[in-house]
Amino acid sequence: MQSNLVGEYRNDYNPNWCPGCGDYGVLRSVGMAFQELGLRNEQIVMVSGIGCNGRFPHNFKTYGIHTLHGRVLPIAQGIHIANPELCVVGIAGDGDAFAIGGGHVPHTARRNPDITYIVLDNGIYGQTKGQPSPTTPLGYKTKVTPEGNQEDPIDITRLALAYGVSFLARGFPGKPNHLAHLIAEGIRHRGFALIHVLNPCPTFHDTWKEYPAKTVEIGPEHDPNDYDAALGLIGRQDKIPIGIIYKQTRPTLAERVRVTSLQKLELKQVLSTFR
Ligand code: SF4
Repeated sequence: MQSNLVGEYRNDYNPNWCPGCGDYGVLRSVGMAFQELGLRNEQIVMVSGIGCNGRFPHNFKTYGIHTLHGRVLPIAQGIHIANPELCVVGIAGDGDAFAIGGGHVPHTARRNPDITYIVLDNGIYGQTKGQPSPTTPLGYKTKVTPEGNQEDPIDITRLALAYGVSFLARGFPGKPNHLAHLIAEGIRHRGFALIHVLNPCPTFHDTWKEYPAKTVEIGPEHDPNDYDAALGLIGRQDKIPIGIIYKQTRPTLAERVRVTSLQKLELKQVLSTFR
């Protein structure tokens, strides 16, 4: 099959993000991932919530829904159940995914729908002008925390692993090819894939210089099928590992529901023979 060029997934919509926003890099990596997989535009559905990155689906010539704050996962799961053949990609920020919509993550993980959830974690509420989010570092000064943020940040990868996501990866838009490959692997994985993106917001929380020094690519010695090894990896204090952290094979939500429906159908047929 002839695959599209990256540009063929995109339209001429202008997302109006601030100059240097990490979202531009992630946008490019998403297109590269679609190209790596040779997907056709009509096979893809993108679902976003509220935040600067809510404009993602507007940029693609694919199906897309820009939905309510924190409600990316329920919508994405509904699409997956209705048509399991589609490639469903959810996009949300740290606040959308782990504050307003935080309650949906564990329940999506235990259902294991075949969707890829890209969480753009810039550690701030950017669209509403820079309030602390669930991942803002302790002591970070914002306009509403002039003495520094007094709350401990949550750890997205640790939570995702505890909730039981069947694929977990972490990337950085400063390494676009690497991030594109992680997104492609997340889409390729059959089940709920969470891609944690360390995403700079140069206007309110600029981490462009910080992450290249702090991150390290996960090497081939790591076995992503080993849960304990994954736990050890995200517990590293010296560096932030980026790459595929964990993956596990188990039935998806659509596969389970389909089996149940087939079993009901067979039962009906058996019962009808007694009439
Ligand atoms: Fe990007 Fe931050 Fe500007 Fe939002 S506020 S567009 S996240 S740089």
